[in-house]
Amino acid sequence: MLTKEMIKVHNFSAGPGILPAEVLKQAAEACINFDGLNLSLLEISHRSKNYEKVMDEARSLVKELLGLNDNYKVLFLGGGASLQFAMVPYNLLRTEGTAGYVNTGVWATKAIKEAKIIGNTQVLASSEDKKFTYIPKGYEIPSSLDYLHITSNNTIYGTQMKSFPKTSVPLVCDMSSDIFSRQVNGNDFALIYAGAQKNMGPAGATMIAVDETKLGKTGRKMLSMLDYQVHIKGDSMYNTPPVFPIYVSMLTMRWLKDNGGIPWIEKLNQQKADAIYTEIDRNSLFKGTTAVEDRSGMNVTFVMEKPELEPEFDKLWEDANHSGLRGHRDVGGYRASLYNALPLESVQALVEVMQAFEKKFA
Ligand SMILES: *Cc1c(COP(=O)(O)O)cnc(C)c1O
Repeated sequence: MLTKEMIKVHNFSAGPGILPAEVLKQAAEACINFDGLNLSLLEISHRSKNYEKVMDEARSLVKELLGLNDNYKVLFLGGGASLQFAMVPYNLLRTEGTAGYVNTGVWATKAIKEAKIIGNTQVLASSEDKKFTYIPKGYEIPSSLDYLHITSNNTIYGTQMKSFPKTSVPLVCDMSSDIFSRQVNGNDFALIYAGAQKNMGPAGATMIAVDETKLGKTGRKMLSMLDYQVHIKGDSMYNTPPVFPIYVSMLTMRWLKDNGGIPWIEKLNQQKADAIYTEIDRNSLFKGTTAVEDRSGMNVTFVMEKPELEPEFDKLWEDANHSGLRGHRDVGGYRASLYNALPLESVQALVEVMQAFEKKFA
C-alpha cells in the first residue's frame, strides 16, 4: 500500500494546507474503525461518550496551547472563518456601540464589510494604500470601542503582526493562518477565531475561543445559531457539529503537543522562514513582496525579477515534486506556505530548486 511518507511531495498549499502524515493515517483509520468500536467515526452519534471524549480533548488542547484562563470557552462551529466575520460583531458590538478594525488585506476587508451591516464600524488603520504589503502601526485606538478586530497573519499578502496592539479595548483576532504557530498570550484577547484548514486541521470546522464575560451585552435579540452563548451552553453541540474536522483538528493539536508544543513548533517555523527568506534575498532572480519587518512566518510571498522566466521556474519545481507554490491571483508570483506540518526538509528542497534555477538562468 502507498503510504503518505512514500509520496514525497513538498506541499506548500496555502489552504487547505498540509497535515502531519501520522494524523492523516489515524484519521483514515477512524473512518473505518473508531476507538475500537468497529464503527466509523462518521456513523456514530456525536453524543456518544466516545465522541464526547474527542470534543473534551479538543477543547482542552486549545486552552492548553493558547494558555487560556478559565473564563475562556472554546467552540468548534461550521461556517468557516467567514461566518465569524458576522458572528463577532453580532455578539460583541452593542447596538449603540462602535467596533474598530484594522484593514490588512482581503480577509480583514471582508470582516469589515459584515461588521458595517451589523453596527457602527470604524476602520482605524489600513495598508491598502500600498497593496497590503505592510502592517499599519502607531494608530490611535479610541478607548470607547466595543472591540478592536485584527488579523494576525495575512494569508494572501504574506504579512504578519509581530506584536499586537496594547490597549484596554477588548481585542478580537482572526488567527486562521497562524494559530498555534508561535507563542502568543491567549489571555490578551477577548476572542480568537481560526478556520481549521490552514494550520489546525481540515476544512469544515472553525475554532472560537472567547472570554465568556464579554458576551450577552449587545442589547440585540439573538438568533440561536449565531449566538455564542447558545453554543457554549450546548458544548458546541447545539446542533450536530462537524465531527470529522473536529476529530482531525484534535489529532493535529495532540501531534503538536506530543512533539513539544508551541515552543518546539515556533523554533522550527522560524528555521523554515529564515531558510527561505535568506534565499529570496540572496538569489538574484527573486524578490520578496512585503515590508521586511512584517514578513509572515507562515505565507512567504515572492516574485520573479524577470516574470518571463516564470514558466521555466514552474517546470523546475514541478519536476522536483513541489506543490501549491503559485501565488494568489491578487499578488501573482509565488507563495510558499510553511504551516506547522511542513517539514524543514521541504523548505530546504525548495531553496535547492531556487539555487539551481539561478545557476541556469542568471
Ligand atoms: C482562509 C482565511 C479566512 C476564510 O476562511 P474560511 O474558512 O474559508 O471562511 C479568513 N481569515 C483568514 C486569515 C484566512 O486565511
